[in-house]
Amino acid sequence: MNNNQYPYFDNNATTEIDAQVLDVLNEYQKYYYANPSSTSHPSGMICNALYQQHKQKIADLLNVSENELIITSGATESINTAIKGIYFQYYKKKNHIISCKTEHSAVLKTLEYLQNFFGADVTLLDVNENGQINLDALERSIHENTLLVCLMLANNETGVIHPMEEIHKITQKHRVLFFCDTTQAFGKTKISKITADLFCGSAHKFYGPKGIGFLVIRNLSRKVFLHPLLHGGNQQEYRSGTIPLPLIAGLSKALELVFEQQDFIIQRIEILRNNFEEQLKQIVPVKIHSEKSLRICNTSNVQFPFEYKAVLLRLMKKFCFSRASACSDGSGKPSHVLTAMGLTKNEVDLSFRFSFSKYNEESEMNLFFEELVKSISEPNS
Ligand code: PLP
Repeated sequence: MNNNQYPYFDNNATTEIDAQVLDVLNEYQKYYYANPSSTSHPSGMICNALYQQHKQKIADLLNVSENELIITSGATESINTAIKGIYFQYYKKKNHIISCKTEHSAVLKTLEYLQNFFGADVTLLDVNENGQINLDALERSIHENTLLVCLMLANNETGVIHPMEEIHKITQKHRVLFFCDTTQAFGKTKISKITADLFCGSAHKFYGPKGIGFLVIRNLSRKVFLHPLLHGGNQQEYRSGTIPLPLIAGLSKALELVFEQQDFIIQRIEILRNNFEEQLKQIVPVKIHSEKSLRICNTSNVQFPFEYKAVLLRLMKKFCFSRASACSDGSGKPSHVLTAMGLTKNEVDLSFRFSFSKYNEESEMNLFFEELVKSISEPNS
C-alpha cells in the first residue's frame, strides 16, 4: 500500500522527509556506521570528526555555541531532560515551576510527575479564547521560590505563537530560568535568534528523520547545571548513549534547509493555508480557532457545524488530517488545548486540525473541497 496516495494535511504530527535529507541519511547509514566514540581506529576517528562537524554546524545554525547543545532522540526527551534536569538539580533551593494549560503533553505530564512524586509546586497559566497567555498574570505568578518558566513558542494544535521575547524579559527581570518548547516553530515562523535560556527541537517536524532532536542550554551568566536523565557512557556531558551519526547528519541537513528556505517556504505555506480557510468558509460556516492570534504559517484548527461531523469523518478516510493533536489521539479525552480556550466537549468534538507543509499543493486543497462538496450533497456516499 502506498502511503502517498492520501493528501497529507497532518504536518504538525510529522513531516515527509526532504529528499536531500534522505540522501544524506542513506549515505551516512551506508558508509559512516562506525561509533564516533571508537577513536582508537580510523573509521571511528572519521566518524568522530564528522560528528564534531555536524554538531558545530547545528550549533551555528541555531546561533549557539557547540557546548550549549545536547543531541537527543527528539523533543520529548529534550523536554524531560530540561525540566527534570533543572528540577532535580535545584529543587532543594526552589521548587516552583510556571507553565500553561495549553502546553504539549510532554511538558504537562513531566510537570505532573514532578508534582506527584517529587513535591514540585506547579502553576499552570490560563489562556483566553484565542489561546493567548496574559503576561501580567505570568509576572504576578512569579515569586521567590520560582525556579523555571516553561512556555512553548508555537502551539501544535492551534498554531498560536507566544511572545517569547517578552516572556524572556520578564523571566530575566526576576532571575528565573525560561525553557521554551520551540518544536513546532522551525520552518513555520521566521526564526533569527531564539532568546530563551533553554529550547528544543525535533527533526521530524521539519522534514528531517524521526528519532533525533536537540536541546540547547545557554551558558548564562550564572552557569546552569542539569541532573542527567540518562546515565551510561557519558558520550555527551548530560546525555549518555551511542552517538547516532547518520541521524545527526540528517538533522543538520534538515536544519540547514529550514534556514535556507524559510523566507520562501513560510510565505508559500501561509498563502496556501489562508486560501484554504477562505475557500472553506465559502462552503461551510466554520469557525477557525485562534484566527485572531499570531499563528505559525501552516496550522488551521477548524470547528465545523454539528451536521457536518459525519461528512468530516468520512473525508478522514481519504485525506490525512487530525481531530486532536496526534500525541493525544486515542486517549478518548477532548483536546486539553481547546478545552483551556473555553470550548465545550461538543465544540472540541467538532474541531479538526489541518497542518500544511512545503509539499502541499493547491490541487490537493481543490480535491479536498470537491470531495467535501460532493459528500455534503450526497450524505450517504
Ligand atoms: N512539543 C511539541 C510542541 C510537539 O508538537 C511535539 C510533538 O507533537 C513534541 C513536543 C514532542 O515531539 P517528539 O514526538 O519529537 O518527541
